[in-house]
Amino acid sequence: MFLHELTANGIREKVKNREVSCVEVVKELFRRIKQKEALIEAYIFLDEEGALSKASEIDDKLESGKEIGLLAGIPIAIKDNISTKNIYTTCASKILENYIPPYNAFVVKKLLQEDAIIIGKTNLDEFAMGSSTENSAFHITRNPWDTESVPGGSSGGSAAAVSADMAFMALGSDTGGSVRQPASFCGNVGFKPTYGRVSRYGLIAFASSLDQIGTLTKDVFDAAMLLQVISGHDALDSTCSALDVPNYLSDINCRDNVVRIGIPREFFREGLDSEIRNALMNALEIYKKNGAVVIDLSLPHCEYAIATYCIIATAEACSNLARYDGVRYGYRSRLDDDNIVDMYSRTRAEAFGDEVKRRILLGNYVLSAGYYEAYYLKASKVRNLIKNDFDEAFTKVDCIISPTCPTPAFKIGEKILDPLEMYLSDVYTNIANLVGIPGISIPCGFTTAGLPIGMQILGKHFEEKKILQIAKLFEQETDFHLQKPKLD
Ligand code: GLN
Repeated sequence: MFLHELTANGIREKVKNREVSCVEVVKELFRRIKQKEALIEAYIFLDEEGALSKASEIDDKLESGKEIGLLAGIPIAIKDNISTKNIYTTCASKILENYIPPYNAFVVKKLLQEDAIIIGKTNLDEFAMGSSTENSAFHITRNPWDTESVPGGSSGGSAAAVSADMAFMALGSDTGGSVRQPASFCGNVGFKPTYGRVSRYGLIAFASSLDQIGTLTKDVFDAAMLLQVISGHDALDSTCSALDVPNYLSDINCRDNVVRIGIPREFFREGLDSEIRNALMNALEIYKKNGAVVIDLSLPHCEYAIATYCIIATAEACSNLARYDGVRYGYRSRLDDDNIVDMYSRTRAEAFGDEVKRRILLGNYVLSAGYYEAYYLKASKVRNLIKNDFDEAFTKVDCIISPTCPTPAFKIGEKILDPLEMYLSDVYTNIANLVGIPGISIPCGFTTAGLPIGMQILGKHFEEKKILQIAKLFEQETDFHLQKPKLD
């Protein structure tokens, strides 16, 4: 087995036991990246020099017998909407093409404190708006399982990098499914924590009441390890929870919590690919064999989730993106103009892509006088009804299981001209963002065409630990997570 094929924990063990140096790990990983990146294009920016220098710093620590962090020596990729001090952070947008943040996001600070090695910034749909990574202003990213297919999105670069063994783990962001959906398309484990579990400080905002940083990893243990590091209170994000962070790694193999699994019947109706349905049914059998009881559920307001999400996400996005005006930072139109309003509009017309513009228009519309009550306010009320459905469901079950997506990875170009069709790929994921609950996607099978299938496990607010245990049980009983795309 090559070094790049190991899990993050596998690398950590080897580094700790001094079987390999951190510099060797980084060199080997960049060898792999040089071979495969031209085909996959998962990254926007790679920092080999910075990674090597951090690696030798950790090697020195090990050499002198100093204590090392939980992620010591693990090369990690960061989605390019998470701020990295002195490293480009573009949101895959022309408007931030030359932006270099003067500070680190909270999560990046935590990673560095625990001795992780940042190797680069990954591609995404511009400002995380999309489901295929085709909306990047720079280039598309290909799915390592089928390079004619999309990796999902918007964290498609992070998912593709992990799946192609070009990163041991990665951070993404999930506003409506952007960690879980690409994880399911690329055969990774993707975890979106409870809203407020992880600080959003330094995550460039898309829709602030839905955004959450999440993890993309090769297995559930690595997800627990990464979550352990990035979770916790941060005074710089007022929505970040002060609740203690449990130890996610201890008892991860405990099976006591795998008891009552809820299956929402609304999620298994028309539109669901039959191979995905079968994979889910087989997965439920595995849980049943291990003592779980499967309970049929109804989440009646979920049929409004996509509409509700579209209104809330676009309303928040248009407010958040108002800051890109060509004055404070980022791109400014080169046209000479002494009229500031024209300068604003030229700047935004030239530097935002079509999907971002579509959302700004929609968002302004739903917030405008006269429509606010009919759309935004109504959507906020429906959001509450959806939340009530979940509160009620969680009185009967410990977790809710569904497919992560209604289809496997689709072809590049297949949906890009049909935004509604594209929005539908979030039908099972964006509810977790509306409600604020945690959700994980884990590999649970393959289509006959050899594309990965993802299973989503949703839990109650702050029950990340339980979800990890439930996911881990499935991983122990199956080997889907061990399969690798044939890129050689
Ligand atoms: N695909 C969804 C959207 O386009 C979700 C994106 C995300 O989670 N960042 O809005």
